[in-house]
Amino acid sequence: MFVYADNAATTCISQTALDAMMPYLTKQYGNPSSLYSFGQTAHEAIENARKTVASCIGAQPREIYFTSGGSEADNQAILSAAKIGARKGKRHLISTTFEHHAVLHTLKKLEKEGFDVTLLPVHEDGVVRVEDLEASVRDDTALVTVMFANNEIGTIQPVGEIGVFCRERSIPFHTDAVQAAGHMPIDVEAMKIDMLSLSGHKFHAPKGVGVLYVKKSVPLVNLIEGGGQERGKRAGTENVAGIVALAAALKESCDAMEGNTARILPMRDRLIAELGKIPHSVINGSMEKHVPGTVNICFEGLEGDGLLLMLDQNGICASSGSACNAGSIDPSHVLLAIGVPYELAHGSLRLSIGEYNTMEEIEHIIRVVPQIVETLRSKSPLWHAMESGQHPHLI
Ligand SMILES: *Cc1c(COP(=O)(O)O)cnc(C)c1O
Repeated sequence: MFVYADNAATTCISQTALDAMMPYLTKQYGNPSSLYSFGQTAHEAIENARKTVASCIGAQPREIYFTSGGSEADNQAILSAAKIGARKGKRHLISTTFEHHAVLHTLKKLEKEGFDVTLLPVHEDGVVRVEDLEASVRDDTALVTVMFANNEIGTIQPVGEIGVFCRERSIPFHTDAVQAAGHMPIDVEAMKIDMLSLSGHKFHAPKGVGVLYVKKSVPLVNLIEGGGQERGKRAGTENVAGIVALAAALKESCDAMEGNTARILPMRDRLIAELGKIPHSVINGSMEKHVPGTVNICFEGLEGDGLLLMLDQNGICASSGSACNAGSIDPSHVLLAIGVPYELAHGSLRLSIGEYNTMEEIEHIIRVVPQIVETLRSKSPLWHAMESGQHPHLI
């Protein structure tokens, strides 16, 4: 049995998205910047996609910029806010310790260039607190960037509250909503979001296309110089097929959200109920504030990488930390950020399920994981030390 349980890493392309993009990969290959009608057909497809995306998140079409993905959108939002802030002498940036590396590494770069970065702590439940933000803002704060939902533990952040807080103080607020888009309702107006990133391949569009939403009153600096595409803010001939697919997939996901959530939640509940029974295991992150499909568990006395290899042998695709960390020996920065002890964080497993999964697949996971945990523990010196009392159990 093949079970794809890594939807937080990427998703399959939906038939709807594939059908929508196909004409632009074949017959409709005109350049959207060309003035003849063959080019204008592609241009219109992009503008329709822009309207669709805007309506899915409560924005206006002119506030939508297409990018090459979530990473580019995060980079542009942060670098732009930093540059504009610096012009006014504001060189302080606020984020959190458990952001995606597209955010954290961009902030690191700015720190080297003389910006001050404050990373808010994330509490044990995987949620940041507005009080901590309140204690960190300064007169020279140029940006607050807090992710909508975390990619490793799935926890949802109080984005609406943070939005209100920042708007009252006129501080630009960006959110990386890559894990939320298509899975959670998003309303940039109601949530007072100034900038928002999303990525097509996390909701059944192809890889290599994303969106940066920027509120029209918020200035934006471009990253890529060249032609005047995307209102001069993102040069480069547009990924027409990808953009069309992204819009179709986002609309499909948003229209089906309630039904999908109702399908996914019982599968997640079953995973948590059964895998949570494995001795010396712990479920990470809040049980209430989470995206439907992401489950993160730590098993004491084993290595996540070994777990993944054995799951692969059983046809199961899963992850131990963020994909970018795979292959490195450091445990997930997200788990460390929520206070999971170093040794325990090594034994983590992320299962991220979607509407394409079935209960049969979940039952397969539930059969396989406990056996693998037992096998790995039987070979683990750390586990034996724990069992013999030489080393205390952490949980
Ligand atoms: C996947 C992901 C990204 C990166 O998106 P790409 O389109 O792959 O560049 C950024 N942030 C989060 C939270 C993600 O899960």
